[in-house]
Amino acid sequence: MEKVSLGGIKVVDVHAHPFKESVEMETPVSFLRKLSLSVIPEMFTSVDGLEKHHPYPGSNMWIQILLRNMAKYYSCEEDLTSIVEARNIRAKDYGRYTKELFQDVNLQGTIMDFGYPQPPLDRVEFEKLSGASVWEISRIEPIMITESKRSTNFDEFVCQYRKRLQEDLSMEKVVGLKTIIAYRSGLEVFEMNKEEAEKSYREFLENDRSPAKAFRDYCFHIAMEACTETDKFMHIHTGIGDGEVVMTKASPSFLLDTLRKDKYKDTKVHLVHGGYPWMEEAAFIVSILPNVYMDISLQNPFTGHGVERIISQVLELAPFDKVMYGSDAFTVPEMNWMGVKLFAECFERVLNNWVEKDYMTAEKARYIGEMILYRNFEKAYKIKL
Ligand SMILES: [Zn+2]
Repeated sequence: MEKVSLGGIKVVDVHAHPFKESVEMETPVSFLRKLSLSVIPEMFTSVDGLEKHHPYPGSNMWIQILLRNMAKYYSCEEDLTSIVEARNIRAKDYGRYTKELFQDVNLQGTIMDFGYPQPPLDRVEFEKLSGASVWEISRIEPIMITESKRSTNFDEFVCQYRKRLQEDLSMEKVVGLKTIIAYRSGLEVFEMNKEEAEKSYREFLENDRSPAKAFRDYCFHIAMEACTETDKFMHIHTGIGDGEVVMTKASPSFLLDTLRKDKYKDTKVHLVHGGYPWMEEAAFIVSILPNVYMDISLQNPFTGHGVERIISQVLELAPFDKVMYGSDAFTVPEMNWMGVKLFAECFERVLNNWVEKDYMTAEKARYIGEMILYRNFEKAYKIKL
């Protein structure tokens, strides 16, 4: 039987964050900290005195898989000290090293969320560093903060906020807006209510990380309107993420009432992280709403061996043309690299299983691979690589 290989296919990562050229040498502990989704640095304190096969404290499957792949890539021993040593030598020329890793997996383009880290890095700088094409989404929350500080009252804020969104959306490389409302008041967004919004605006002025729900809901709708007018994408963080997420209101199902409103039937929506761990809800939503898409970032690569199960589960319901590759890589180029490697490896297993069962030919399976790795991006975002 013919085996499906996704080798050589170009890749676009539709959700990742930029990182800076790192000038300092990594130590085993500093490197482990950069690899973790955990925002508690104390998770990794020391790697000394461990028995030979003891996993590094706080490390999980994703870190295990990455370290093993790095050791193979550098042809060095599979212990953290040797890996970090080999890495430090190569990373002396950070730009060259970053480009080498991107090219190794044919990662040619990426949509970046410059909302993290803060203060924002520069798009052109990152393009130079990585050699990849970079498109941007503009986060609404930092704009809300800046404009609230500048405005003397709520009406002035609304006017300025709307203007800023329009300005950002008119920029050539900006493909949409993004909201992290799931981190603040949750995805159960209510209808616009100006009176309530104005009241809760005061709560926001006192603390810009407070829930201020009616105010955030109001700003969410303005952003959806701005995306609708310009035919650009609204990126919505769904599912888990940082430890501060409103976890009981983070699953995509909370969004359904909003997304299926008649006024948003033409609005393009991108469910960032595909709602993990509620990715089946996201898969259902993209299967019923023509303009809603999802990516598999964060769940890939940070669930390690789980990526294979997740691809299979998402594609139980999601149409093949509604899912896009993503990583949520955010600190070092090894994350972007491992994201593609792990995804391709897991996806090949899923596709080969379908071919074995005679659900499709190997040619069609590879084509579906191409769709998720870059073709769906090109079509949905109307961008040719
Ligand atoms: Zn992210």
